[in-house]
Amino acid sequence: MSPKPRPEILSIQPYVGGESTLQGANRVYKLSSNEGAFGPPPTAQAAYQRLGSELHRYPDGDARELREAIGARFGLDPARIVCGAGSDELISLLCHAYGGPGTELVMSAHGFLMYAISGAAAGCRVVKAPERNLTADVDAILAAVSPATRLVFLANPNNPTGSLLPQSELERLRRGLPDEVLLVIDAAYAEYVDRADYDPGSALVAAGENTVMTRTFSKIFGLAALRLGWAFAPAAIVDVLHRVRGPFNANAAAQAAGIAALAEPGWVEKCRAHNSEWRARLSGMLADLGIKVWPSEANFILADFGTPAKAQSADQFLRARGIIVRRVAAYGLAQCLRITIGTAEECTLVAESLAHFVRMEKEKADG
Ligand SMILES: *Cc1c(COP(=O)(O)O)cnc(C)c1O
Repeated sequence: MSPKPRPEILSIQPYVGGESTLQGANRVYKLSSNEGAFGPPPTAQAAYQRLGSELHRYPDGDARELREAIGARFGLDPARIVCGAGSDELISLLCHAYGGPGTELVMSAHGFLMYAISGAAAGCRVVKAPERNLTADVDAILAAVSPATRLVFLANPNNPTGSLLPQSELERLRRGLPDEVLLVIDAAYAEYVDRADYDPGSALVAAGENTVMTRTFSKIFGLAALRLGWAFAPAAIVDVLHRVRGPFNANAAAQAAGIAALAEPGWVEKCRAHNSEWRARLSGMLADLGIKVWPSEANFILADFGTPAKAQSADQFLRARGIIVRRVAAYGLAQCLRITIGTAEECTLVAESLAHFVRMEKEKADG
């Protein structure tokens, strides 16, 4: 006899991150994980380096200075902010605290895979609601809710589709859910959205007792390696998260770099402007090649090649040129590739390479 985990644990397919190396390539362009195009903010790098002589000290378990900096930046009460080792950790803690065996978690069909993984690990049955045009469908989500539902997860904008629900739809979702169902709005890409009417979720959190917003330092703030995320939540949920989190779950380097990143002048504005410009340009260049691109509000685009075989050959063609994008078959989108908006050079290289690919395919077809 050997130790056995709960049976549902072995049904989980481990999360596979975007690849970062290619055999034989001397230069690799990594556009597979939606990391910021400009690296970490310089002041965050300096703050990280200064920490070297303090590595024997435990972090501030309360992350007080960081929570105050987040609160000041986003106009939120620091007492309602909980930090974590990436927003992934907060997603997992919420599943364990509010889910569990006998409960259900609802997400949309092409929603972020960590919800299914963390939900299953907590013992929840994971229910996927169908989407319309690769966009979450509020009616389908509401129809998927049962008396066993405890959690609904929605990324807005969503990864890997890039789609965004308007605020009126989020409000309709919240109104349609039973009060005891926790709605988690994952706004990992909030800073990239350039629509005047966008709210990342804080308004719904503030308006009730049953909605949580999660955010991350891994995308526009360029600190994915340090693992830093945060949640804005009603007081009772903040209390629960503090009970279940590890006492030092946001590490000292992450806290120091996070505070510095928030203070970097003009960082978010510069990154967002670059992203909006190149998201439109790259989408346009691919559309000109006859490749369908789904509308995106995030720092990536979803290129649709029509068939899984075509997407796979495009992926191989890019890899042979040192370009790594993301296959999204695990999301039920084997006909698509997700491409992170990188630097101008990287976007141009992707477009030129795909132009090559399309020409080559056409030559093959013409015999
Ligand atoms: C990248 C991403 C996250 C961020 O995860 P971290 O654990 O904070 O690095 C969360 N949700 C979605 C939808 C993402 O794409």
